[in-house]
Amino acid sequence: MSFFSKKADEILPYVPGEQPKDGVYIKLNTNENAYQPSPKVKEALNNLDVSKLRLYPDPESTKLRETMAEVLGVNKENIFVGNGSDEVLAIAFQTFFMEKDNILMPDISYSFYLVYSDMYNVKAKTVPLNDNFTININDYLVPNNGIIIANPNAPTSISLSRDEIETIVKNNPKSVVIIDEAYVDFGGETVVSLINKYNNLLVIRTLSKSYSLAGLRVGFAIGNEELIKGMNKIKDSFNSYPIDFVAQTLAIEAIKDIEYFDKTRNMIIDTKQRTKEQLEKIGFTVLDSKTNFLFIMHKNKKAEDIFNYLRENKVLVRFFNKPKTDNWLRVTIGTDEQMDRFIKIIKDFVE
Ligand SMILES: *Cc1c(COP(=O)(O)O)cnc(C)c1O
Repeated sequence: MSFFSKKADEILPYVPGEQPKDGVYIKLNTNENAYQPSPKVKEALNNLDVSKLRLYPDPESTKLRETMAEVLGVNKENIFVGNGSDEVLAIAFQTFFMEKDNILMPDISYSFYLVYSDMYNVKAKTVPLNDNFTININDYLVPNNGIIIANPNAPTSISLSRDEIETIVKNNPKSVVIIDEAYVDFGGETVVSLINKYNNLLVIRTLSKSYSLAGLRVGFAIGNEELIKGMNKIKDSFNSYPIDFVAQTLAIEAIKDIEYFDKTRNMIIDTKQRTKEQLEKIGFTVLDSKTNFLFIMHKNKKAEDIFNYLRENKVLVRFFNKPKTDNWLRVTIGTDEQMDRFIKIIKDFVE
């Protein structure tokens, strides 16, 4: 006999990248932003009205949703917010996919999709990527009950164009198509502007990567008002107050500071380009990244050996020991100084 439910007994949980307790590592393993959050966040934190913590926060995160809506050119009724986009994804799975079969997703993608599939009794149908890790959109123009794609995809870093996503959405009018744009701010093409044209499109975003706020836990979804209403029903059946007062207050400031947001994401895009060129010079294949990380493979050194050597030298990257990806490494783009150090160490090893 077990105290656990069948689900708790059986489920294989998502395994996040390592968060070392000591600060000696150069952390290029979990796609956090290399830069500090906007200085406006610090200012707002210093000025925070602590007496407000006595009260429950706004259950609808109204001001935060208004701020997001304004920046994205949609209405606040088109926005759903959650405690990190992982929670938004969980709510979306429950709202649109729970207990359904034939939900299409790439075989190599964000591994949480399969965990949520298990959790919510979704029969996922994984669609193999092409050998060069690209997505063949024709694979998604077949009968299905739902689709989820990360665009740009992770850990491959590769992106589909806006037109390609539109083709998938347009040809699946009876399925909800979820596009996880966690990394889109680093060079991808967003499909947010299509949410009013297609009532079956849900876009998911996060402040964790491009806004340097992984520790704040704020994610959001953008979609047709009816889709958002459905998600709110599930949210209010689970947790009415997913975004605490501090997170609502600070997230607003980060989103309003567009200048800082553009400056830091462009710095990462530049550092990425430079790092890619340096890696190619020393024998790496580097996929065309529209994210804040690179997916790389060396022509004669094994990924696992490179991973271990980097680790011994206090640099953490991500190694996915699974078929098809077990000779590749995912490397987050850090600051210029961090990437110089990374290149020096990896160069010593491969040469
Ligand atoms: C990081 C990531 C998320 C989760 O982000 P949080 O908002 O921190 O929960 C979701 N999807 C993808 C593809 C990611 O890489």
